[in-house]
Amino acid sequence: MKQFAKLLLILLMICVIATEASSIADRITPVLHYKPGELIVRFKDQALASKNITASKSSLLKKFKHFPLHHIKLPLGLTVQDALASYRKDPNVLYAEPNYIVRKAQVPGDTEFSRQWSLPIISAPAAWDVSVGSREKSSVLVAVLDTGIAYYHPDLAANLWINPGEICGDGLDNDGNGIIDDCYGANFGGFTLGDPWDDDTADSHGTHVSGIIGAVGNNELGITGVNWAARIMAVKFLHGPEGMGELADALRGVEYALANGAKIINMSFEVDEDSQSLRDAARAVENAGALMISAAGNTGKNLDIYRVYPASIKSSNNIAVAASSFTDGLPYYSDYGRHTVDIAAPGGSTTGSANAILSTVWLNSGTTLYRTTAGTSMAVPHVTGAAALLWNIYPSLTAVQVKARILNSVDRVPAFTETTISGGRLNLEKALKSQDISTIFDVYPFQLNWNGGTVTVKGVNFGITPSSITLGGIRLPVSSWNDTEISAQIPQNSSNGIIQVNGQGSGFPITVLPTVKLTPSTASGTAPFTAEFNAEVLSGVPIIKYEWDTGDNVFKEYQGITSNFSHTFDAAGAYNVNVRITDSNGNTVTSSATATVSTPSSGGGCFIATAAYGSYLHPKVQILRNFRDKSLLTNRPGRACVRFYYQLSPPVAHLIVKYEFLRVISRWAITPLVLLIQYPFMTLALFILFSICWSVFLSQRTNACSDSAAIPYDSNN
Ligand code: CA
Ligand code: CA
Repeated sequence: MKQFAKLLLILLMICVIATEASSIADRITPVLHYKPGELIVRFKDQALASKNITASKSSLLKKFKHFPLHHIKLPLGLTVQDALASYRKDPNVLYAEPNYIVRKAQVPGDTEFSRQWSLPIISAPAAWDVSVGSREKSSVLVAVLDTGIAYYHPDLAANLWINPGEICGDGLDNDGNGIIDDCYGANFGGFTLGDPWDDDTADSHGTHVSGIIGAVGNNELGITGVNWAARIMAVKFLHGPEGMGELADALRGVEYALANGAKIINMSFEVDEDSQSLRDAARAVENAGALMISAAGNTGKNLDIYRVYPASIKSSNNIAVAASSFTDGLPYYSDYGRHTVDIAAPGGSTTGSANAILSTVWLNSGTTLYRTTAGTSMAVPHVTGAAALLWNIYPSLTAVQVKARILNSVDRVPAFTETTISGGRLNLEKALKSQDISTIFDVYPFQLNWNGGTVTVKGVNFGITPSSITLGGIRLPVSSWNDTEISAQIPQNSSNGIIQVNGQGSGFPITVLPTVKLTPSTASGTAPFTAEFNAEVLSGVPIIKYEWDTGDNVFKEYQGITSNFSHTFDAAGAYNVNVRITDSNGNTVTSSATATVSTPSSGGGCFIATAAYGSYLHPKVQILRNFRDKSLLTNRPGRACVRFYYQLSPPVAHLIVKYEFLRVISRWAITPLVLLIQYPFMTLALFILFSICWSVFLSQRTNACSDSAAIPYDSNN
């Protein structure tokens, strides 16, 4: 009885969906809205305008006074598209466009539309004036590689792909692809089944994603997708409420999607491990001329440093998507990357709240049909939907041209200028109206050092003959050039900047780092020991900060100290000394060296001299130590003298280490002693000579003083 009721319910639902589908198909016609037989043209040379108009057998409807535009009536029989083509070829035409019909932005009649904040943010209503998508057989097929789709969902069913080669439910593999009854897609999970029903009872992840791409629009029910009409294929490889899956099944899913003609594969999943096979699958997507759209991931990482797959796969046919919030910020969870994440799109903030993304689900046995969920998983289908809508209008575009148009038409929102390549958040209306311009997807390496080097620039619409590629407006030498790849030279001493091709698009940022090499002039000695280091720096831009870490992992700036540094270590040990330099672009690099300080051995000593000269290896300290070892320690009075000195000297040495002026004084005091030891006879002779001179000088000065002293007394009187 229960089974019968279930069957009845399903049958009833199919009937509702079928009726729904046919009525919607009638209502939705993707068209471009413009007035036939008319154009608006801007000529370069206004004086030649009337000549141009006559030559094209057109007539002038209006010449605008306040801007240099001509409203033109085309000759009978000439279509707007043909006229546009010929006008755009005319060298005197700056631009020509149809006389578009303007009306208030189209809003669908779905009951929950007012809760779908993400759609006005991406200017979807204005875009729907151009197209609302299509479910024609020729239109773009989107595969959702996910937990499957609840294909009975009343707001999705009409927009699902149905395998044309399969007779649904006859228990046979009609199309001979090895999968029985793969009607809406397929299910891969170690096994291969035809039923991709979404079994994610926690989130209905795949169903939610699919609704964002293409929940049926304007059907007076629930929500609308970015596309009101679409063709969505369910490719299930994630299973259960945890949404877990295997790499091998993801690969099978990609293969199935491509084999059945999918042009866009929505990949709202992430895996931390790099895998060559997933890269090979991405290559297959590229070779099929399809697009994959990948989630940047939900752990708040910078993908310039960390990796998440498939988002981190460097392919011109892959779009990595970060999430944007209700207030156009970067949500805390969203991964990002100035050099690695292509674009942001609405993903919302908190699952279950109004600031997350409302979409279709099948929860609580189908009693909950809509719910809000947040994540980069939700950002991806906004871009997928946009790509499908755009590609349906311009089917002759290549996959990479579709990607370029989407990246070039973003809203440049502050939160994304430093966190994405395109510098902004998806704008669907602008994407539909954008043009093919030179667009860079990737530059590698995107980080070089001051010495420069070769970079590979990948993108599209570069042109087939070498033209201009610049870094910060300065032209770069080119090694090779084609429409999608350029090899160029970054000269020595360059600075951080934006690489641009033909002066178009937002370009791609590269970082030029200074280099630093820390070398010790004195690196080892007996405690207390003063180590000296030199930082050798090479940079195209000024260095504005030197910071030193003496081995405690704390970097400090020392006033007046730049590339030369010395530090005294009181205790024995191996110290990892680091220097960190910051250039005027804010780039930082570090270098390290080790200072080895040993405990004074019983035969060590000479504490004061070591402290004064910074190291027991200093030649003058060596002379003193030699004298001690050979002349003092060899006899009893000498040994007694050394013992007495060693009782006295460590505290004094400690004090000397702390104050530079004491070190200078100590060195002055020690010098005559060293000379006496080194050159005893000469020093003695010099000393006697100096004493004689000094006494002569003093005796003369005594006389002179008594003479001169008499003078003031005289004058005062
Ligand atoms: Ca089959
Ligand atoms: Ca709806």
